[in-house]
Amino acid sequence: MIDIVCSDLDSTISNSQHRHHLTPPHEQRHVDAAWYDFAMASGEDTVMEGMAQTLRLLRFPLAIISGRSIEAYDITMKWLHEKAGLYPDFLWLKRPQDPVDNAEQKITKIEKLRKMGYNPILMFEDWPRVAQAIQEATGVPTVCVNPMYDDKALNLLIPEDPAAADKT
Ligand SMILES: [Mg+2]
Repeated sequence: MIDIVCSDLDSTISNSQHRHHLTPPHEQRHVDAAWYDFAMASGEDTVMEGMAQTLRLLRFPLAIISGRSIEAYDITMKWLHEKAGLYPDFLWLKRPQDPVDNAEQKITKIEKLRKMGYNPILMFEDWPRVAQAIQEATGVPTVCVNPMYDDKALNLLIPEDPAAADKT
């Protein structure tokens, strides 16, 4: 078994505050296509340097598992390389066939890593509900990261909405 570290992306490694105005209306948040503009603006995110540095210093294989829309894959990989200095072994973004619930999506991918012969040893995630669910379902110790957003940005988020969790 190969040890591997896992991490969420939005609001864990990348600061998405500048694009929060692109989040879809509440009634559309379960629709993947409604998140397209929000995801495609992610190339302009700033790096949460403490988290990026942590992942670089750990020097373990890295799997990034995110609810960000799959359409932003190329933008995201370029951003990780050029801005965050991270070279993940796996970058799994949200595909239409993935579970709608953000925690379920991540749990499924952690289980997939195990089937592939990896041993997930640590997970980073910014949403408490999602972090707790991942830890409980997989047994992988999970660090809940606080992105240090200002109050104005946080007012745009609805933590109770599972479809919105992590994408912001
Ligand atoms: Mg997140």
